[in-house]
Amino acid sequence: EAITVQELANRMAEKGADLVKALFNMGMMVTVNQTIDQDTAELLVEDFGHRIQRVSESDVDIDTADDVDPEETLKDRAPVVTIMGHVDHGKTSLLDALRGTDVVRGESGGITQHIGAYQITTKNKQKLTFLDTPGHEAFTQMRARGANVTDIVILVVAADDGIMPQTIEAINHTKAAGVPMIVAINKCDKPEANPKKIRERLLEHEVIVEEMSGDVQDVEVSAKAGTGLDDLIDKIMLQAELLELKARPDRAAEGTVIEAQLDKGRGPVASVLITRGTLKRGDVFVVGTQSGKVRAMIDDKGKQVKEAGPSSPVEVLGLGGVPNAGDQLTVVENEQRAREVSEYRSEKAHSQRTAATPANFDAMFSNLKSDTIEFPLLVKADVQGSVEAIVAALNNLSNDDIKVRVLHSGVGAITESDVTLAAASNAPIVGFHVRPNAKARQMIEREKVRMMYYDVIYHLTEEIAKEMAGELGPLR
Ligand code: GDP
Repeated sequence: EAITVQELANRMAEKGADLVKALFNMGMMVTVNQTIDQDTAELLVEDFGHRIQRVSESDVDIDTADDVDPEETLKDRAPVVTIMGHVDHGKTSLLDALRGTDVVRGESGGITQHIGAYQITTKNKQKLTFLDTPGHEAFTQMRARGANVTDIVILVVAADDGIMPQTIEAINHTKAAGVPMIVAINKCDKPEANPKKIRERLLEHEVIVEEMSGDVQDVEVSAKAGTGLDDLIDKIMLQAELLELKARPDRAAEGTVIEAQLDKGRGPVASVLITRGTLKRGDVFVVGTQSGKVRAMIDDKGKQVKEAGPSSPVEVLGLGGVPNAGDQLTVVENEQRAREVSEYRSEKAHSQRTAATPANFDAMFSNLKSDTIEFPLLVKADVQGSVEAIVAALNNLSNDDIKVRVLHSGVGAITESDVTLAAASNAPIVGFHVRPNAKARQMIEREKVRMMYYDVIYHLTEEIAKEMAGELGPLR
């Protein structure tokens, strides 16, 4: 596994010249465009004070994150969209309404098949993929497994209700993931709808929509009356264009499991969102710790398909066992190779149950990409006054080198949603006069999330300040 000095510098957010200098001091004469091996890269990373984790060679072999497709092979792909928002604000209704705009479905009269995601084709022949499980829990759980499949989040807010607790959670989970958001102000058919108020209230959560001179797109819709849907689709496509979403279609497929189960008649089935390449009938693959051979593929319209390209969701039959949501599917040369890799992965999964560990060399550096070092954490306290005081005190600790980033804060017990976000972001949870509920406690164990409990604000800030001053603070 080799990497160019420049590429490593980019991932570490350091100057290429500084790395060249450090390498010179280590007795190596290289330029930024030359490659260095993994051992040297690790030394450098440590030298610069970043923490790393060694991964096994055979695992790196199959992890194809470093195998970048050449620019000229890339083709536009459909954006993958997740809908979030408070309960009853209309997430499911909006998903149904958007599905109804599919021109292909209208023609073929296909039967809706729930396979975890669906794709629509618009009047202008554009394609969009929507994940069928709305909400931020599923989104962040996938992220905790290293699967960032969502390109764009639609935040649904009911115009007759307002910003509710799960709206705030959705905003914070989306921001923590760094995924762009579009606000859909729903239920605008209702007489009591007040979209203006929603836009104003969003300001308090640092979501500044275009009409308030911000850069978050917003659109008034009614999932019930079907109004504003074309506008919403246009805005998604505009955002997608800015993101320049591309993938290489003509290569061995890779994908992410969005859901999987054991079907009585058909055996283990997995819904897979293809991330690059084209999955074909007969392909041999590894998925998580399982292996298999594509026996059949079924799309979201219930039709058998022979192949599936980037951003398409398909249900895959022919697995050896049931994988987990978030597992990566990778097509390999032959069945022997598939067995080798899946056996190796099973052993590894057995011997080390570390959920929040980056899966590969590449993922490990993605945490180092930003310019200033960030100290992410979550804050839960017993009363609103304490939450505010703690967040303010923590923000005061930030300086030019290191910045506290409160991913989410709120009143009440520490919940599963908090733990999921903490695990996905490798952030500790600060509890002030509060403790986790029973379910959250189990998850904390499993995901190895770090907890910090306090009863005095001063102790809290003192300890965090100490950690920040430490070296560079815990990056993960
Ligand atoms: P979810 O919990 O966010 O998935 O919300 P649902 O889609 O289940 O919708 C909750 C309720 O709001 C249902 O009774 C819907 O019929 C209603 N609803 C959803 N969208 C609209 C809308 O645009 N206008 C009106 N009037 N009602 C809506």
